[in-house]
Amino acid sequence: MDTRQDLKKAKRLVVKVGSSVICEKDAVSQGRLRALAGQFGQLNRRGYETIIVSSGAVAAGFRKLGLHCRPTTLKLKQVCAAAGQVSLMIAWEKALGAFDLKCAQILLTADDFSDRSRFLNARNTFISLVEMGVVPIVNENDTVAVEELKVGDNDTLGSMVANLTEADLFINLTDLDGLYDSDPRKNKSAKLFLEVPKVDKNVLNLAGTDGGPLGTGGMFTKVRAAGRLADRGLASLIANGHTRDVLIRIMAGEELGTFFKPSKKTRKARKHWLAFAARPKGSIIVDQGAALALVERGKSLLPGGIVDIVGLFDVGDPVSIADRTGTNIGVGLTNYSSPEIKLIKGHTSKYIEKTLGYSHSEEVIHRDNLVIF
Ligand code: GLU
Repeated sequence: MDTRQDLKKAKRLVVKVGSSVICEKDAVSQGRLRALAGQFGQLNRRGYETIIVSSGAVAAGFRKLGLHCRPTTLKLKQVCAAAGQVSLMIAWEKALGAFDLKCAQILLTADDFSDRSRFLNARNTFISLVEMGVVPIVNENDTVAVEELKVGDNDTLGSMVANLTEADLFINLTDLDGLYDSDPRKNKSAKLFLEVPKVDKNVLNLAGTDGGPLGTGGMFTKVRAAGRLADRGLASLIANGHTRDVLIRIMAGEELGTFFKPSKKTRKARKHWLAFAARPKGSIIVDQGAALALVERGKSLLPGGIVDIVGLFDVGDPVSIADRTGTNIGVGLTNYSSPEIKLIKGHTSKYIEKTLGYSHSEEVIHRDNLVIF
């Protein structure tokens, strides 16, 4: 999916719709859902498999519960999400049903991505649903997720779902036409980017952070999500969900929105999962020599360079790697548990067998199971 023309070859699409797209005056709008559902109906009839990531639970919930504005405390957000999610799904079911589409609800949270077996189970369910022609509708399971354990915004959630389901394209629908060189709400001559070849620091700086009154993420989380997918070799688009037939026109190759090109140098699925979804169970602190070997020379992590560990972890767990100043260098899957590393740290690899009576491998973290930031 290197160019927009390639999009015609796409099969599996993940489309995120923000609150700003589906709500009107703070309430989920049946008319807006219907306009989108008509497009999903057409796409499915043409053989595309579609997955929707829909915000709007909190927005639907606070209206339903008679609150005057979007809640700010976690407790109220969770209450509104619980009350609103059911209304949101009823609205989607009605809208999609009018175009003969069946839908299914999938509520996920960060744990479902960080635990490899839950990740794979979720993937199987998604794939079975789309193969049966059912449209999965995803949202974060706001009711159970405490702030630290949340994915936090549906741009990130959408990109994680696109990765999980190995989609060909992620389309992020919002209330702007795409990424501009300055804020189009403040600057009338702001220029829209039709294509972003690479998401680097400069591009992220352009994105700003303001999410508007209804949504959680701003352009920043959208662009960051696109960058992470590009890194995985997946194409994505940010486009305006209010543009007539936007999805159909994008899939026909029309130049709507901002197209984020997938990177040529991509990370394998497992490394992508390590970098963006795995939740480290602890950290390994390394000396300067080891930090250099990891960052500059692409080496594995050996026991000799380890100065300390933080937390309790087991063999195979994801752990973060930091230098002595606390700077996070990367994340990897450890071959040794924290009690084992306590015994072998600072020593050469030969010492492993002598000390433990066995050796799984010379490296504490092998390069193949390591992502450097
Ligand atoms: N999960 C939230 C909701 O449904 C939305 C999060 C977001 O918009 O990023 O209200």
